[in-house]
Amino acid sequence: MSKTKHCEAVRVVVRCRPFSKRERAECENILEIDDKLGQITIRNPKAPPDEPMKVFTFDSVYGWDSKQSDIYDDAVRPLVESVLQGFNGTIFAYGQTGTGKTHTMQGITNDPERRGVIPNSFQHIFTQISRTQNQKYLVRSSYLEIYQEEIRDLLCKNNNKKLELKENPDFGVYVKDLSAVVTKNATEIEHVMNMGNQSRSVGFTNMNERSSRSHAIFVITVECSEVGPDGEDHIRVGKLNMVDLAGSERQSKTGAKGKRLKEAAKINLSLSALGNVISALVDGKSTHIPYRDSKLTRLLQDSLGGNAKTVMIATVGPSHKNFEESLATLRYASRAKNI
Ligand code: ADP
Ligand code: MG
Repeated sequence: MSKTKHCEAVRVVVRCRPFSKRERAECENILEIDDKLGQITIRNPKAPPDEPMKVFTFDSVYGWDSKQSDIYDDAVRPLVESVLQGFNGTIFAYGQTGTGKTHTMQGITNDPERRGVIPNSFQHIFTQISRTQNQKYLVRSSYLEIYQEEIRDLLCKNNNKKLELKENPDFGVYVKDLSAVVTKNATEIEHVMNMGNQSRSVGFTNMNERSSRSHAIFVITVECSEVGPDGEDHIRVGKLNMVDLAGSERQSKTGAKGKRLKEAAKINLSLSALGNVISALVDGKSTHIPYRDSKLTRLLQDSLGGNAKTVMIATVGPSHKNFEESLATLRYASRAKNI
């Protein structure tokens, strides 16, 4: 069992994926995981052997043999419970491309053992709803993508249309004209997710290229109405955001030029804006939380901070070839933890 603390508003966990077949033949492992202490140790493959290794501590760490259900039960389930109670919550997958963000969030959806966070949350939400008696539930979902600071609806046929962020005193920040699909069970909502995933890849020759540059956000709004002792209807609404972030790799290293370099700057902008918002929230002393610095943080404003819960799942690979990127990911995640 890994060490867990369930009471905090921001939880940061790290997951290390196994070596791929190719890596196993040609790479050294530079990570060591102690799941009892929640520690991960990273070794610089170029440093002399007597140089001290860097140790990071998180709420939980998950090694290469961790199961999808470990991540869900330990890191995600309490957050989804609080969404069912009417609070907002956000789960992020952050890390270099190829380290397991999509595996963690989506997984292999038709294999019960390998389903990721998103399909597991569907099962969880609708199972809980089916067990209640005196409440009526309305579950709506939206699926959108932020690419180059532009928002697209993944559930709309005309999905090349750029959507606008609006602000309204009653609803706060919202995306104008974003589809919201009502679903009655896990099968229906899974269908919605599959539709969105398909639309994500349309028009792009290389799915991984695109997913490494855009943020995909699956939003579930759970509205519950119940007749209170006063005979009146009481409504509570919780919102769950599940975010597969753009790859965190520094694009300058990959020799990006022109349009690609501009794109890279925007990706880095929203990831650093997110880091700033989370560390300001964790710090607790900041009077100004810089939500307005990116579309991503503006959009999630009402689901970060306040009564909302946040889980950041940082993903890393074990290979010495990714030392710089893995170290950068651990630093980013550790800053979100403010230790
Ligand atoms: P990302 O979305 O961060 O770019 P992916 O989720 O696409 O990365 O993962 C890259 C590859 O590694 C995929 O083939 C995926 O199946 C595999 N993988 C990632 N994490 C794990 C894991 N924890 N266990 C087994 N395979 C994994
Ligand atoms: Mg991915």
